[in-house]
Amino acid sequence: MSDVANVIIVGSGPAGLTAAIYTARASLSPIVIEGEPSSTSDQPGGQLMLTTEVENFPGFPEGIMGPELMMNFRAQAERFGAQFITEKVTAIDVESRPYRVWVRDTEYQAHSLIVSTGARALMLGIDGEDRLLGHGVSTCATCDGFFFRGQEIAVVGGGDSAIEEATFLTKFADKVTLIHRRDEFRASKIMQQRAFDNPKIEILWNHTVTAINGDSRLEGVDVTNTVDGTVSTLPVTGLFVAIGHRPNTDLFAGILDMDETGYLVTAPGSTATNIDGVFACGDVQDHTYRQAITAAGSGCMAAIDAERWLEAQHD
Ligand code: NAP
Repeated sequence: MSDVANVIIVGSGPAGLTAAIYTARASLSPIVIEGEPSSTSDQPGGQLMLTTEVENFPGFPEGIMGPELMMNFRAQAERFGAQFITEKVTAIDVESRPYRVWVRDTEYQAHSLIVSTGARALMLGIDGEDRLLGHGVSTCATCDGFFFRGQEIAVVGGGDSAIEEATFLTKFADKVTLIHRRDEFRASKIMQQRAFDNPKIEILWNHTVTAINGDSRLEGVDVTNTVDGTVSTLPVTGLFVAIGHRPNTDLFAGILDMDETGYLVTAPGSTATNIDGVFACGDVQDHTYRQAITAAGSGCMAAIDAERWLEAQHD
């Protein structure tokens, strides 16, 4: 292709679509390569496509369904002229300018890139988990904890995330069972102590979740003792899977700087990566906050950074 776009945005969650709204309104005619429909978070719209109600996105006092929110983001970007390609990027080359992005055999070129490919929560990989995601199964306590007021729920994992989520969830739930596959936590000592001291948290050592029960809503989970193999059922209405996240950065290995866990590194107070004119926003560079609103905020930053960078090239 001979046309060179001002900016190509890779990924279409809250970060990418906010970057699209801002760059489109700045008359930069962005191209958004939004991903392909799939049953994972690695799809157009990102992780919010897998949630049900979102109650904490400002501006929606009655709440809004995750997929509807993302549809609104997309429509807003389209209104200002963002162009969408519903495919997955298969390769990028930022060795020379213009930068090149491939979707299989089709090449696109751009003066600048915004990377917003997000992250995915690791899942247990057992039957019913995907089906009941948003219907009792969750990967985000901050997002969904509120729905479990007065209920008995469980959290899986033994790292800082699991303990942080279990502790947070005791604000709402009557009882939180923390299910861990070993007999000691990986989490920091201070976090562990927080769990030990919390009377609402019960720790189930040496257990794994082996079945997820319920048709349209979670009704309980089966847990298996890893020492003696016995199986029991926990009648929980919520299951929070907190066994870690992975950023979607395979495409950028050896190209963009990453930290030791694969998150893209951006300059402090900016969305600039180590490559001039390539910006990163949203969960792909944030393992701390991981909220739609913070992703959207950083998408706005990336758009402004890209716009200013493009202007500076003309000067
Ligand atoms: P993590 O440290 O990798 O811990 C993942 C936990 O999930 C481990 O305990 C692991 O068990 C368990 N696990 C993994 N796969 C499993 C499976 N298939 N079935 C059952 N259990 C499974 O991940 P994280 O807790 O998300 O933390 C990621 C990073 O963020 C860490 O560096 C952490 O310190 C940091 N973080 C910090 C804070 C904080 O300081 N406030 C909060 C959250 C996260 P094993 O222990 O047996 O491997």
